[in-house]
Amino acid sequence: MVHAVEKVAADTPDGRVTAVGLRVGTMSGAIPEALEGAWPIAIAGTRLAGAALSVEVLTAQIWCSSCESIQEVDEFYALTCPACGVGCGNLVHGREFEIAYAEISTPDDP
Ligand SMILES: [Zn+2]
Repeated sequence: MVHAVEKVAADTPDGRVTAVGLRVGTMSGAIPEALEGAWPIAIAGTRLAGAALSVEVLTAQIWCSSCESIQEVDEFYALTCPACGVGCGNLVHGREFEIAYAEISTPDDP
């Protein structure tokens, strides 16, 4: 994850990464609290050092072909529709683990 952000930062060699936003699905296996806890250690000594982390949690959602609608599910429902109980396998959100944004300040910034 840090490497991915460093890659973004590499596009602006003079820049310093000041903030990073992550988008994490509830079924991605990542725990936001753990990410936030590990963040200062992960970025220490990198170009990201001192950058703020913000984690956006995405609730898992499935497309239920029986209800013909998108339903929110939690990890305990697995891929079963909470509305009608039919097992549907079409997860539309929930496995995300991606960089939403990276704020880079350059020395030219006011
Ligand atoms: Zn349903």
